[in-house]
Order: sequence, then C-alpha cells, then structure tokens
Amino acid sequence: MPTKNINASTRPYYVAVANEEQVFNAAFRQGLSILLKGPTGCGKTRFVEAMAHDLGRPLITVSCHDDLTTADLVGRFHLNGGKTEWVDGPLTRAVREGAICYLDEVVEARQDTTVVLHPLADHRRQLPLERLGVTLDAAPGFCLVVSYNPGYQSVLKDLKDSTRQRMVAIEFGYPTADVEEKIVEKESGIGHEQAAALVRLGQAIRRLETGGLREVASTRVLIATGRLASAGLTLSEAARAAIAGPLSDDPNITSGLNKMIDVYL
Ligand code: ADP
Repeated sequence: MPTKNINASTRPYYVAVANEEQVFNAAFRQGLSILLKGPTGCGKTRFVEAMAHDLGRPLITVSCHDDLTTADLVGRFHLNGGKTEWVDGPLTRAVREGAICYLDEVVEARQDTTVVLHPLADHRRQLPLERLGVTLDAAPGFCLVVSYNPGYQSVLKDLKDSTRQRMVAIEFGYPTADVEEKIVEKESGIGHEQAAALVRLGQAIRRLETGGLREVASTRVLIATGRLASAGLTLSEAARAAIAGPLSDDPNITSGLNKMIDVYL
C-alpha cells in the first residue's frame, strides 16, 4: 500500500471548487474523520494529496475492493525464517505515525472490514488489534478520510449513526466549466480552446438522461482525452477513444456519442 510523503515536494495541483479546503483543515484540527462524497474522477484523491501536503502529514492511501480483509488493513503475522512476526497493515501504520489514511471507494470494502473503523472514526480515535491483544490510540496528526460514491449501494449506511455524526462530509461534484477548463488544459497540455471544447462536450454528456453515463465523462476522462490529443491524435479521434469507447458497449449509445463528438469538437 503506498505511503506518500508529499511534504517536501511541491503542492499537488488542486484547484479549490468551494470551501472544501477550509472544511478539511477545520476537521483535521478537531480530530474529526472526513467523508468525501462524489462521483469517481472528480478530484477527491487529488484533493486529499493537496491537503496532506498543506498539513505536512504523510498520506497512506488504500484502494478498497471487495476482497479487502480486516487483516489487509490492520496487519497480520508473517512467517519469517521459522519465526512469526507481526507486520502492520496500512491503517495501523497510519495510526502509529499520525498519517492521513485515505480509504478510497470504501463502499467496495466488505462490511466486516469497515467495523474496525468505528472506534477510529468516532471520538475514541482507537484501533483495536485483536491479534496482538492491544488497542492503539491514534497518534496526533492521524486523520481518517474515506471516499465513496453516493450513487452506489453503500456499506456506510451500516455505520452507526453515532459514528456518522462524528464525521464531517464534503460533497464533490464536477468543477464549474471555467475551473474544469483550467484543469484539463494544465493536466493534459492542450490549448485553451481545445480544453474549453472538451469541457462543453463533457457537460453535454453529463446532461444526458441515459443511466450510468455521467460518471464516465468525468474530469479524469476529459484529461485522458486531452493527453491523447497532446500525443498527436485529433481531438475527435481522442474523444472517440477515451470517451465514447469506454463509456458504453451499446452500439446505439456509442454512435450517439460519436455524433455529439462531431458536433462539439
Ligand atoms: P477521484 O479520486 O474523485 O476519483 P481524482 O482525484 O483521481 O478523482 O481526479 C481525477 C483527475 O482529475 C486528477 O488526476 C486531476 O488531474 C483532475 N482533477 C479533478 N478535479 C481537480 C481539481 N479541482 N483540481 C485539480 N485537478 C483536478
């Protein structure tokens, strides 16, 4: 699991969309856990990286998936030359080091895995290590940040109300057009006019009523399109490859999207 020490380096590029930086800072200083809600590809991970940098904390990121076990998070005994030794998992390391622990897409994690988060997310700030028979108090600077997409079925609804009430939620949407243009331009290296056209296309796709499409025309996808264009494709070739293709396998939808690409790019 990656630990990023982003303190010494330059700040990860993140453009604030509303007051999310102030809310994160205030929650961090009060030792509260943070819930980032929003569709995939809208900047949540980048935001946490920028915040970890500003607050001078190491960042430990865990991408959650449905095979993730409590031991993957907390740690397990390993056999080493005939001896067993305990190896901390990423959550335990973060608790000991006072790092920011970011559980990305926590919805994907199994419910029994998230149980371990309760005493950490509430006022106790404790991590029980049952295998070792100890309970760790989180070091100062530890902060639990979880992200999830409210569009999906959520295990977070199983978090106790008392725990949820002690979490601070920050809602993310796609940035406004002018901000998204700036981001696409900077991250992909294409010109302003091209970035503006891509953002107009993305916004039009997000307005479509067809289920499931909004997610895919994310800022991340627009940046990928811009990168292909920077690498020599025309903008519409790039959009067919990075937007229309991944967006749908339904030939009718794909052909509709290709028509939109022709209109907008
Ligand atoms: P998420 O974690 O929500 O799935 P990411 O943080 O990975 O999304 O965002 C995808 C990409 O979009 C990032 O790599 C970054 O280039 C860009 N991005 C999105 N929002 C912003 C923003 N507000 N400022 C800077 N970059 C952004």
